[in-house]
Amino acid sequence: MFADLHLHTQFSDGTYTPEEVATLGQKFGFAALALTDHDTVEGCARMAAACAAAGIEFITGTELTAEHDGNELHLLGYFVDPLNPRLLVEIGQFQTVRQDRVREMVSRLNRLNVPLQADAVFALANCRSPGRPHVARALVNAGLCRSLDEAFEKYLKKSRPAWVPKKKMSAREGIALIHHAGGLAVLAHPGLNRTDEVIPHLVDAGLDGIECFHTKHSPAAVQHYLRLAERYRLLVTGGSDCHGLSKGKPLIGTVRLDYRHVEKLKQRLAGRKPTIPSESP
Ligand code: AMP
Ligand code: ZN
Ligand code: FE
Ligand code: FE
Repeated sequence: MFADLHLHTQFSDGTYTPEEVATLGQKFGFAALALTDHDTVEGCARMAAACAAAGIEFITGTELTAEHDGNELHLLGYFVDPLNPRLLVEIGQFQTVRQDRVREMVSRLNRLNVPLQADAVFALANCRSPGRPHVARALVNAGLCRSLDEAFEKYLKKSRPAWVPKKKMSAREGIALIHHAGGLAVLAHPGLNRTDEVIPHLVDAGLDGIECFHTKHSPAAVQHYLRLAERYRLLVTGGSDCHGLSKGKPLIGTVRLDYRHVEKLKQRLAGRKPTIPSESP
């Protein structure tokens, strides 16, 4: 039995609906799937229903944008309660920041005489957690760029003229928020981060696991992070980070996490003290 614990949908910057992801998950024979849209849990209810219909176990999740020492890192939160009030308030603030950031990117483009409208981006994104990929798609749809690559290269990449930094929570706050919402905090794709030096700091802040298996991890990187997981007694996760079609094919199906790791996640949760009842809705 296998799982894919890193998937995106239209509720952030993926192109598939939750139903399409569940159907693909069924086609590839997955026993369990987790939805990890950026800074949101908006798609979890639909994904849960679609997975139930497809006979797949669904794990609620999110991918929080955080930072440590000025470096961006992504924290996966698994088994979070998607109705937890504090989670919804805090990610709501980051969603507002993302929406303001889209407006700022559009004003910068307008100053460069690129006549994109913010409403065109919001209509296309149609979710609370818009990002640069939506701006890039809107530029292509409006005929203002030939490709997504061109949009990033000319305008949206870091240090390009329409690049706007994102406000991020500290990694420590992100881990605490995931724990508060009843979840497990996992460092996403550490192989894409600038350095491993952050890992002991995150462990000190209560990190539960690291994503050893990821589309962009080489076999050597996988082995390296499996060893680090053992050294720091961290849980092991993995997923494709599928955002839709990549070079004509979906990434879902390319990373298959042994279901035993999902069982270990559940064992870790079961051994944890319940969250404070007075803070429940
Ligand atoms: P954001 O969270 O709004 O900063 O957008 C980050 C997302 O943009 C990443 O998850 C990637 O999917 C996408 N992205 C970043 N750089 C590029 C690039 N050079 N070309 C295409 N997509 C990119
Ligand atoms: Zn993404
Ligand atoms: Fe990520
Ligand atoms: Fe991701």
